[in-house]
Amino acid sequence: MPVTMDTLVSLSKRRGFVFQSSEIYGGTGSVWDYGPLGVELKQNIKRLWWRDFVQSRADMVGLDASILMHPMVWTASGHVDKFTDPMVDCHECRHRFRADHVDARPWTHYCPATKGNKFVIPAGEACGHCGARRTLCPECGKGELTAPRQFNLMFKTFMGPVEDEAALTYLRPETAQAMFVNFDNVLQSMRLKLPFGIAQAGRSFRNEITPGNFIFRTREFEQMEIEDFVNPHDTVEGRPADEWWHDRWIADCMAWFRRYGLREENLRLREHEKAELAHYAKRTVDIDYLFPIGWSELMGIANRSDYDLKQHSKFSGKSLTYFDEERKEHIVPFVVEPAAGVDRALLAFLADAYQEEEVRGEKRVVLRFHPELAPVKVAVLPLLKKREEIVRTAHGIRAALSRHFRVVYDDTAAIGRLYRRQDEVGTPYCVTVDVQTVGDRDKGESGDGRVTIRDRDSMQQVRVPEGELLPVFRGLLEDGDWGAVVARFGGVTADAGRSREGDP
Ligand code: ATP
Repeated sequence: MPVTMDTLVSLSKRRGFVFQSSEIYGGTGSVWDYGPLGVELKQNIKRLWWRDFVQSRADMVGLDASILMHPMVWTASGHVDKFTDPMVDCHECRHRFRADHVDARPWTHYCPATKGNKFVIPAGEACGHCGARRTLCPECGKGELTAPRQFNLMFKTFMGPVEDEAALTYLRPETAQAMFVNFDNVLQSMRLKLPFGIAQAGRSFRNEITPGNFIFRTREFEQMEIEDFVNPHDTVEGRPADEWWHDRWIADCMAWFRRYGLREENLRLREHEKAELAHYAKRTVDIDYLFPIGWSELMGIANRSDYDLKQHSKFSGKSLTYFDEERKEHIVPFVVEPAAGVDRALLAFLADAYQEEEVRGEKRVVLRFHPELAPVKVAVLPLLKKREEIVRTAHGIRAALSRHFRVVYDDTAAIGRLYRRQDEVGTPYCVTVDVQTVGDRDKGESGDGRVTIRDRDSMQQVRVPEGELLPVFRGLLEDGDWGAVVARFGGVTADAGRSREGDP
């Protein structure tokens, strides 16, 4: 059964992934806070994106621009005039909706054919009794809706101490424009040749009319965007370079999400219709994900043509061109933009990783995160917390491994429960230290210096010399090849007996 949004919201709160912002004041539904595990997961997403798309590519450089920019940026980009959504209000309950989202909601209906009984009818459907379709407010079912008005989604603020028109500016609604505005700075300082990209991850703000669905649509969120500049006169494999690179980015982004765990059947591509295309776009393709709310946009990959550089050149009076050595001419590059949302990616990874299964008659909740995404990589658990040597060894292992990745120590429950807690937050590996590891001084027995590694997915256990832990985990966290560890150290056991024994 697919996971519900309620399950994810509740797990996120209970286990420290995501909290409602300002919850003690009643919270807001439009912004969320990332807790101790959420912040690790989010950082891992951004780090992997940066590693795979920036650090490892010779044709990519990074940028970290300000959120507050010159207000003319937003006039030139078209955001002041065109970054609007149509908004309607209910005359009765004053609820506000995005006009283009109204029909996608279930609607409240007082049916005249059943003496005015109240029904909540699924989105887009007619009433089964009277055949009526929605015309009134979907929320209260009573009020007429106003005609749509365009509402600008940019947050306004003032730069400096005087709150007047001259000081008006905006919180950036996307990170992309900084890459266009800095195009020449980056080009000159890094001596780049086309094609090359500029990447940036950072916060964006949109005063969404109807935020909601947990972290899917919020008013403050993070984006990971790339502006990949290409020479429109070049061809690759007989096709215009911008079109070739557009398809290449679509394939690369799909592969990236699959690589870190999103299942093939939960991903699809959606081509924008001509009428739907943004004013700057030659072609746009969305990667949609089957979120608990249904198929929705995870990221967009647009061919923005030369629109942005030309606009900023026109409004700033500065040349934003590239000298094509081969053709001996100045050209304005085309740009392909893969634009992803960090929060939506996190929601997708969380939803895809969530699994409930029955293990020996008990429910096990497990987040099957890719090891590189998992917020905690290793949990070190002493089997007996009353044995000082066991506890000391376990703390020592945590401290040594923590220099390399996120490791936690936990001795606050019996081992079976500790395993289940780690499964529920997606920790791929646990290490247990027991009497066999440290020996029993009273009996004159020395330890074997081996600890047990337990694999989250198979629940198998293997004993490994303590000194081998770091190289073993380095390998596992990179390729997750548990089979190789089993083959090398042998002696596999299941965690069953031990977790039962230890259960309180
Ligand atoms: P939507 O159609 O859902 O409003 P969009 O097409 O306006 O999104 P883009 O401008 O293409 O979104 O932004 C790129 C990415 O940024 C989106 O694919 C999404 O992942 C993320 N994003 C955009 N708006 C929000 C938001 N309000 N909350 C969270 N993430 C967002």
